[in-house]
Amino acid sequence: MPVPAAPTPTSAPEPSSSAPFVSRHIGPQADERDKMLAALGLGSLEDLVQQAMPDAIRMTAPLDLPPALSETETLDVLRGLADQNRALTPMIGLGYAGTTTPSVIRRNVLEDPAWYTAYTPYQPEISQGRLEALLNFQTMVSDLTGLPTSGASLLDEATAVAEAMTLARRATKTGSTLLLDADTLPQTVGVVTTRAEALGLDVAVADGPLLAALEAHDVFAVVVQTPGASGRLTGTDELRALAEAVHARGGLVIAACDLLALTLTAAPGEWGADVAVGSSQRFGVPLFYGGPHAGFISVRAGLERTLPGRLVGVSKDVDGTPAFRLALQTREQHIRREKATSNICTAQVLLAVVASMYAVYHGPEGLRRIAEAVHARATGLAADLADGGVEVVHGSFFDTVLARVPGRAADVVAAAREGGVHLRLADADHVGIAVGEDAHESDLAAVRHAFGVRDAGRHHGDLAGSERETPYLTHPVFNTHHSETAMLRYLAALSNRDFALDRGMIPLGSCTMKLNATTEMEPISFHGFAGLHPFAPVEDAQGYATLISTLEGWLAEVTGYARVSIQPNAGSQGELAGLLAIRGYHRSRGDEGRTVCLIPSSAHGTNAASAVMAGMKVVVVKATDDGSVDLDDLRAKIQTHRDALAAIMVTYPSTHGVFEEGITELCALVHEAGGQVYVDGANLNALLGLAQPGKFGADVSHLNLHKTFCIPHGGGGPGVGPVGVGEHLAPFVPGHPFLPGSEDVGPVSAAPFGSAGILPISYAYIAMMGADGLTAATEHALLAANYVAERLRAHYPVLYTGRNARVAHECILDLRPITKASGVTVDDVAKRLVDYGFHAPTMSFPVPGTLMVEPTESEDLAELDRFCDAMIAIRAEIEQVQNGEWPAEDNPLVHAPHTQARVTADEWTHPYSRRVAAFPAGLHQGPLYATGSDKYWPPVGRIDGSFGDRNLVCTCPPPEAFE
Ligand SMILES: *Cc1c(COP(=O)(O)O)cnc(C)c1O
Repeated sequence: MPVPAAPTPTSAPEPSSSAPFVSRHIGPQADERDKMLAALGLGSLEDLVQQAMPDAIRMTAPLDLPPALSETETLDVLRGLADQNRALTPMIGLGYAGTTTPSVIRRNVLEDPAWYTAYTPYQPEISQGRLEALLNFQTMVSDLTGLPTSGASLLDEATAVAEAMTLARRATKTGSTLLLDADTLPQTVGVVTTRAEALGLDVAVADGPLLAALEAHDVFAVVVQTPGASGRLTGTDELRALAEAVHARGGLVIAACDLLALTLTAAPGEWGADVAVGSSQRFGVPLFYGGPHAGFISVRAGLERTLPGRLVGVSKDVDGTPAFRLALQTREQHIRREKATSNICTAQVLLAVVASMYAVYHGPEGLRRIAEAVHARATGLAADLADGGVEVVHGSFFDTVLARVPGRAADVVAAAREGGVHLRLADADHVGIAVGEDAHESDLAAVRHAFGVRDAGRHHGDLAGSERETPYLTHPVFNTHHSETAMLRYLAALSNRDFALDRGMIPLGSCTMKLNATTEMEPISFHGFAGLHPFAPVEDAQGYATLISTLEGWLAEVTGYARVSIQPNAGSQGELAGLLAIRGYHRSRGDEGRTVCLIPSSAHGTNAASAVMAGMKVVVVKATDDGSVDLDDLRAKIQTHRDALAAIMVTYPSTHGVFEEGITELCALVHEAGGQVYVDGANLNALLGLAQPGKFGADVSHLNLHKTFCIPHGGGGPGVGPVGVGEHLAPFVPGHPFLPGSEDVGPVSAAPFGSAGILPISYAYIAMMGADGLTAATEHALLAANYVAERLRAHYPVLYTGRNARVAHECILDLRPITKASGVTVDDVAKRLVDYGFHAPTMSFPVPGTLMVEPTESEDLAELDRFCDAMIAIRAEIEQVQNGEWPAEDNPLVHAPHTQARVTADEWTHPYSRRVAAFPAGLHQGPLYATGSDKYWPPVGRIDGSFGDRNLVCTCPPPEAFE
């Protein structure tokens, strides 16, 4: 595939004294690399690759990518691209509003590695800061929507409505149709229709008021959008009557709503909605040309156990201190697989944190003031239009005015654009004007000028028939941190509780916690990238167009596919898009009956959940004793399902961290039976530059840019999950109603380019690494994993290995025999690692009772050794439990992690010393480690997760709870 020419830097080449970026990205320098190779008895990285990777899949020619740029050159290129975007004042609306990110939040959350390099809070003891921020988010959504339980974020508004649809389907027994408001956002209609079609659910869009349209449909749920796409606000009485009518039919009411409007208008929970959904973007999150933004969902009592996505709840630690952790995880796909409530894994944590902090900073009064100002400006503008003889379509609105200008709409929009404002061209006769928090008087003047009307100076607003009467955000957290000093300290206090990559290694298998370089991160804040509305005219988004087509081209090159789409905004969504492409392909050939998806037992939970969402039936393929796909069982399953076979979904290298020899045969067997091969590309960090899934037999893959391509995890999102496909599947990659020419295939994300705003990160990574650098990164990732496996092998059995006893980019340490002999569990080891200053590896995936370690190429030898030393020291501690020196119920492992309060308590009754508890094994982290200064102290002790599930609390506990 031809790769588009990359823009070239404008500055002179850097002086050669500056080290190339690749040596900043890769941790081990040459001497360390040689030591690691020597420890493995190898002479070169190439020797390692030859030993570990099957020849059959190796690439023969190097990647065709432009030469690596320096960090300054890359910033130049990206600044140039940002400048090619004309991010005018965004008054287009349609679910994306102009907002002002408070600087204290931008710099100390969005741009702070203590927040953005954190992992998903699966280890709650070291994640209390972001869990508190997410609990604030849940409390904020719950208060504003008037519904008791809110999740910790979804991917965007359109997918949130789709998730609400499946929730409603599970929760109701009657009806066959989801009825959408006539004023639903067009992208929501697109996403919901795509998702419903695959599941065999009927969707209808009302052709008039919902209450009247109810008569014509047998509904299981109704979506009411208020304010609507046109700006129209539905009165509370009308909403209440609608809810009653839907409930009388046994259906559910889903309110698609606007958090800022809800500070002034009646909450969905008050008028009878069962579910509320929407986007929290306008709470201080930049537009980012469409994302990432945090979608939200909240539900009435009785529906909480069916919520999609993650949910933070309050529990307590061993000492009874209230502590936060993810609640009801048994709903999630890691456990429930094809029966999960949703396939969502990576969500939008960083953006949910930003939105929640916006509410913390402004407080209920501040939010109301912002809402009132927005509403007053919209009302004033509507009055000016009316005075000037322009028809204003709706009498009741919050921030968006729909103006009727027969035949003149395009001219008005063009004139406004001249004046520095993007308006919405609704159709030839209508213009939408959405007033955001950031709209200045000069912008309103430009709008008036475009319409040819004058300022009558009236700025008042009332919301007759929709007013809110209930309080919100009464918790102290929303009423305390209103000065910048207080806010700064609150943010620092929370991030100090968390262990992120700025403190140490996060050796998580399957998650690739590598360097997120500062040069990669900086451009996301450039106004040209951050300030652009996703539906801005293409001529004002030329920088993004080049960035996106270049990046898609590079990703196609590294994966060996014909076409890549960056629209999916997480790996799970890439899976869905890829499976829908397979479905579309089969159906285009008249193969409607091909609906079986084979999935190996070791697969990531999202795989099975996504297959179900794509309307497929999951059939599990067994693993052999060595962990690879059982080809005999595969043959048998293909035999049984030959005519119905749609696809197989495999991860390569396998979730066991091994390059399976049988991959080419597996692809051939499935193809021969008429099926397609989906290779889950989340483990591309073991392949990049060495092998291309599109060339070794796969038809489609998703990649995770938030794993292999340096987008930080953000504490559980954002992500980008591009889908790459072979030529024959190219006509079936996601389209979008706002992308002319692509409407044939439905979208999987609200925005045409998904989370466009974070694509500069991956762009910068590839630009700075070049073909050789990317290949070197892969080789060093393999080296690091094999080095760790080698050092730990004598202490913990390495569960699976491939050819020549080598692993790929990660390895599984088998604790099960150790647990059997000593009673010490993976949990104990994971929590004890915190005392040693580490984040735990992945626990019990893909094999229960094991730990999966992925060190990545970015950790230097000293950090790798520190981790291995810690694991070896822990093994010696286990030995002391095993041989009876320490009782099974009283030892530093079962009591880990140790808080400061515990080790400094007046009383100490344990058979091990305080020093052993807090400063184990004489391991040194830094010169001031021994004084406790350089030590990471967990803010709480071991958390009782099931207590929280039995006593579900998902909003901020009152301050007295901490007394
Ligand atoms: C991370 C991962 C996924 C899911 O990606 P998300 O972005 O979290 O949705 C799927 N498969 C594998 C193997 C993964 O490691």
